[in-house]
Amino acid sequence: MIRKIETIKEMQNLSEKLRREGKIIGFVPTMGYFHEGHMSLMRKAREKDDIVVVSIFVNPTQFGPGEDFNRYPRDLEGDIKKADEIGVDIIFTPSADEMYPSDYKTYVEVEELSSKLCGAFRPGHFKGVATIVTKLFMIVKPHRAYLGKKDFQQLKIIERLVKDLNFDIEIVPLPIVREKDGLAMSSRNVYFSKEKRESALSLSQALDLAKSLIENGEKDPKIIEKKMRELILSYPHVKKIDYVALVDPENFVPVSEVREGTLIALAVWVGEARLIDNWEVKL
Ligand code: AMP
Repeated sequence: MIRKIETIKEMQNLSEKLRREGKIIGFVPTMGYFHEGHMSLMRKAREKDDIVVVSIFVNPTQFGPGEDFNRYPRDLEGDIKKADEIGVDIIFTPSADEMYPSDYKTYVEVEELSSKLCGAFRPGHFKGVATIVTKLFMIVKPHRAYLGKKDFQQLKIIERLVKDLNFDIEIVPLPIVREKDGLAMSSRNVYFSKEKRESALSLSQALDLAKSLIENGEKDPKIIEKKMRELILSYPHVKKIDYVALVDPENFVPVSEVREGTLIALAVWVGEARLIDNWEVKL
């Protein structure tokens, strides 16, 4: 039976006890409203580890002013049921008041990586991410943490954080899970009407276009970016492109020529939702 833990001390004490018993703890940090992307991380953790802990916390410090913190979708009971079906052992749902008391002062910043791509459009976002992940690692004390490549920049920032701060935690990256038509799964997809959802397909379609251009020998990032932008802007509910970028996956610096492993990443506003997607070039 799945166990729900709501306080930091109870989670820390239990993790300490499990570690003393020699148990390997796998951890999946989330903001809830589970879809197959989340489930794939939980299944992998269930496969590899003795104890699976999933946190659900809509982290206020990673949302900027005017972003969708208040309307971010939430369904704790539904999430617990889904996690239970996979065999997750513990759901950790701390309160915002306990995580960030009124005298809270400490933040974690991963320099350079955090200011590129999404960081350029969401100032403070990755500082919030790095801070909450650090706190969750100190509370859950996992041996492994499972993260999706859907949030590629977040993954790289957390990998760097783990390396730089010497966390004794293995990061396990897992592939993007998509709907049948290619749309990357996201809790935010629930915002879409049927028509807007069609425009949301512009992201995966643009990545498919890049793929076919590259398969046909195109190596010039400027040409690929231009054609991707044109395709995206041809969809009716696309409001704005934040970026379409062809970059080195380690430092997010633009490449002068596409090669194996180049990261093609994009962020696009469709209606009121900001969507991201990416593809690592395979030649
Ligand atoms: P979130 O609840 O959106 O903060 O996501 C929690 C974890 O699930 C993060 O590691 C995400 O990268 C991962 N995730 C979200 N969507 C997907 C997806 N479509 N495929 C794979 N992983 C995902």
